Amino acid sequence: MLIREYHAGEELALREVFHSSVHQLAAGHYRPDQLAAWAPQTFDKEAWARGVRTSCPFVAEEAGRIVGYGDLQASGYIDHLYVAGWHARRGVGSALIQHICSVAQRRGIPELTSDVSLCAESLFARHGFSVVERRTVVLGGVEIANARMCRKDPCGEARARGLPPRAVPRGMSVLMTPPLALYVHFPWCVRKCPYCDFNSYTLNGELPLEPYVQRLGRDLAAQAPQVAGRAVTSVFFGGGTPSLFSPDAIGRVLDSARRHLTLAHDLEVTLEANPGAVERGAFREYRAAGVTRVSLGAQSFDQARLSALGRIHSPADTRLAAAELHAADLGNFNLDLMYGLPGQELAAAVRDVQEALSLAPAHLSHYQLTLEPGTVFAAQPPPLPDDDAAAGMLAACAERLLAAGYGQYEVSAYARAGRQCRHNLNYWTFGDYLGAGAGAHGKLTFPERAQIVRTVQLREPRRYLAATDDALARRVIAARELPFEFMLNALRLTGGFDAQMFPARTGLDWQEIAAPMQAAITRGLIVRTATGYRPSELGLRFLNDVLLGFMSETPKFAGSSALSIGVSGARSGASRPLFTGPGSVIGE
Ligand code: SF4
Repeated sequence: MLIREYHAGEELALREVFHSSVHQLAAGHYRPDQLAAWAPQTFDKEAWARGVRTSCPFVAEEAGRIVGYGDLQASGYIDHLYVAGWHARRGVGSALIQHICSVAQRRGIPELTSDVSLCAESLFARHGFSVVERRTVVLGGVEIANARMCRKDPCGEARARGLPPRAVPRGMSVLMTPPLALYVHFPWCVRKCPYCDFNSYTLNGELPLEPYVQRLGRDLAAQAPQVAGRAVTSVFFGGGTPSLFSPDAIGRVLDSARRHLTLAHDLEVTLEANPGAVERGAFREYRAAGVTRVSLGAQSFDQARLSALGRIHSPADTRLAAAELHAADLGNFNLDLMYGLPGQELAAAVRDVQEALSLAPAHLSHYQLTLEPGTVFAAQPPPLPDDDAAAGMLAACAERLLAAGYGQYEVSAYARAGRQCRHNLNYWTFGDYLGAGAGAHGKLTFPERAQIVRTVQLREPRRYLAATDDALARRVIAARELPFEFMLNALRLTGGFDAQMFPARTGLDWQEIAAPMQAAITRGLIVRTATGYRPSELGLRFLNDVLLGFMSETPKFAGSSALSIGVSGARSGASRPLFTGPGSVIGE
């Protein structure tokens, strides 16, 4: 979810939010005649639009749709805060209030007040507001009860939760709660590929399906309290090879997630599948179990190249799997494709893209094969095309993809309109994710403690299976690391990021990155957009150089193997490109 400034011409969308908020969210607290007086169907639309224009600077947007809005007047008065009824209890109200509080803090406004409807009292109370007066207002001749609520200072939230003011470290402003996703890792494969540095293991013997499903249930139950009250907007079953697990097993893991977490009603659920390790006809059952999207590891359509990569599937397996996906109402699938393969020439790389397009995927991930430390290929490198040849392949393939109607929205990701991967977009906009399963990584934001925490589970499956709940490792990300971490993700996006997202997602002032940002702009690596910043074409090609400018002087990421800066089109660490283990909001 994005909190942004209101744009002229959005009055109608706001009015829709206002009506659904009043008639759906307030219905439990007010009578129908009170609701009708509050939000009458006939009223002076011009006056309403004028009022909105002058007092509504913040809008909450999700997937291109306005889902809430709020304002902050110079006096510290919040006149508007409405969340669409269809987004109830998804954290939109919380995100708006946190944003307003953080703006108030920056503007030096010492006190916030609002006249709050009965249905929103608890929401405001959670953010440090307390009732100073109970009131009855008269609207359209009908009496309506509300409460005047007040929050004394920008650190009120921490105080309200019994935390000392110093819980908000110097240099950090108030963090906002970002959207939340769930990543579930399945660590086994039929055979380990020689180029693969993921946390994956050749399956020797029987798949421990039942113990693993149960262990995942325990993992989710143990981690759930960290994200209580927040809605999960996407789930990603990654690996390894999750399609080794039956549809029934995947369905039961989803059931566990549903039992312990709050899942959004329009949840995106992605399953990674290996065309050589999925039962024929199983996609229908995965769909019935709740999977809405599949990511298929095609890699190439040339049998010789697939054999060189050690893949267990054939081009025919991929074609058959794609046909089955379409037939199973899973046309929203991704194909993973690699280029720069051993002995590959430009024409062959382009042929692979054309073959992929003929299967009509909704999304295509296009990665360069790189030699990752610790892999068989790193020890015995195959003959790979040189950098110039690989760059030529990238350019020629990108041209074919764009001509076929696939927009590039990330360094390695192309999608048909509206088919971007919501789960990966959450990583790239520095959202939160809970990580469950062997070696899974998580990232969670705790605004009340002004902390962003990384979590990692035990990597080795046997140890993970036997571990107790306290085996999950946690590390608070130091403030000095946040600029680099944020940019590592946000600058992968071709559209870049909104300027206000940086303070909201990191809790840091813009000043922290003003100098390196200006330097990158001067070098032509980053360009300004209407609302923020994006990498230029040059910047996308030399992203590592851009990112180095945002690194602090102090060495960091010791032991944090989850991060990679091998980003320039390369397959950097995972088919979720940033984190070996992982994986909007939210609402009142
Ligand atoms: S590349 Fe995929 S299929 Fe091959 S070992 Fe790694 S996770 Fe398993």
